[in-house]
Amino acid sequence: MPAYFTGCHGGGNKLAKQKLKQLSKHVRYLPADHETDRPVLGAVIGNDYTLIVDAGNSPAHAELFLNELKEIKAPESRLLVLTHWHWDHIFGMKKMNLPAIAHTKTKKYIEKLKGLQWTDEALDERVRTGVEIEFCAEMIKKEFGERRNEIEIVSPVITFENSLAIDLGGVRVRLQHVGGDHADDSIVVFVEKDKVLFLGDCYTQNMYAKKWNYTAPVFLKLLDELEHFQAAVYLHSHCDPATQAEFFQELFEMRITTKAAVENKGNREAIHSAMKEGLGRELNDDDLELASYLG
Ligand SMILES: [Zn+2]
Repeated sequence: MPAYFTGCHGGGNKLAKQKLKQLSKHVRYLPADHETDRPVLGAVIGNDYTLIVDAGNSPAHAELFLNELKEIKAPESRLLVLTHWHWDHIFGMKKMNLPAIAHTKTKKYIEKLKGLQWTDEALDERVRTGVEIEFCAEMIKKEFGERRNEIEIVSPVITFENSLAIDLGGVRVRLQHVGGDHADDSIVVFVEKDKVLFLGDCYTQNMYAKKWNYTAPVFLKLLDELEHFQAAVYLHSHCDPATQAEFFQELFEMRITTKAAVENKGNREAIHSAMKEGLGRELNDDDLELASYLG
C-alpha cells in the first residue's frame, strides 16, 4: 500500500472488484482500494432516504458503487455528503448526479479546482510548482488513464459551517466539522443509532506540504474530538473499519508519540526512547513514520 496513512491496514485489493459490505444495521460500505487510491464509499439507509458518503475518485468508482447499491433494499431517494475536498472523494460527483452537502470550505476548495487542466503535462507542472502532490498526480493518471476528459468538477449545493443533522427516516445522522492537518474542511459523519463514525481522512497527516506533517496542538485537539463520539465502529476512508477498542488503542499510541515528539523536539533518539517507554514495546515502521511527521 502507499505510504498514505500510518497505522492503517487492509483495504488493498488488486485482483477483484470491491463489493458492498454490511457494517451495521443501517450502514453499508464499499471498501477502499489502494490500487488507484479509491476511498471507502458509504451508504446510510433510513426508512425514507439513503445517504451516500463521498462520491468516489472517478465516474467508474461511483458507477461501481451505484451498481452495488442496486443489489440491496434501500430508498431510491438519495442524498450525498462529502467528507472533504480531495480529488479521490469528489471526482465521482457528476456520476452520482445528486445535490451534494458539504462544509462551506469544501465548496470553496472544490470551486478552485474548476478550470484546471488534468493532462499529464498540467499535472506534472502543478507537482513541479508544489500545487499538487506527486502521489495524487500518479493516482489520477492511473485511475483515469487516457480518459482525462471524464474529470468534471461539480460544486456542492448545500453547505454548513459547524454541524448539520439529517433525518433519513428513523435514522439520524450528524455531520460535524472537525478540520485537522490533512484538510481543514474535514467533517465526520456520525450515524447515531448504529454508533458508526465515518472519519473521512481527517486524522491523516498533511500531505500538501514539502514534508508530510502533523501540527501537534491541531492533531491532539482532533483526537480528543474523535474520542468524544464514543462510536462503536470507526471507519477511515482508506482503512478497514476499527472497533472502539482498536481505535482507542490507536488514539493512545498517537498521543504517546505526539507527546514524545513535543517534549524532545528535534532529538530523534530521545523521541524514540520516550515512545518506547510510553508504548511499552519496540517501535515498528509505522511508529517511526508517525514520529517523523511530528518533527
Ligand atoms: Zn484526503
